Amino acid sequence: MSKGCILITEDNPSNMKLIRDILNYHGYDILCAENGKMATELIKNNKTRIDLILMDLQLPDMNGLDIVKLVKSDKTTLHIPVFIVSAYAMENDIQKAFEAGCTSYITKPINIESFIKKINEFFENIKGNKC
Ligand code: MN
Repeated sequence: MSKGCILITEDNPSNMKLIRDILNYHGYDILCAENGKMATELIKNNKTRIDLILMDLQLPDMNGLDIVKLVKSDKTTLHIPVFIVSAYAMENDIQKAFEAGCTSYITKPINIESFIKKINEFFENIKGNKC
């Protein structure tokens, strides 16, 4: 049984493969977008299915933060939590991400152990809150 559905937005193929493999291995359903256009279309078509969005900031066609702003300004998608996954660890970028409505910020390169711990804890909390 799937633990939940996660949309990964990431343009770097090896980062995408790593994140996808970890999450698959731990029982999550995955949707993959390698650019902003794909991400916005997948979000539009899977509003009720996606439990979490992992968002890279630097994408070939869009800034990930602009996608977050779109998600959070649409009342049909604003419930979807977003974690930024980015190499930009500047305090200013982190602050901007939280101001845009992001739930968490993970810096790259990701540490596999703490990454999956964070995701699992997040989903355990969602389940806990639903009971
Ligand atoms: Mn990128």
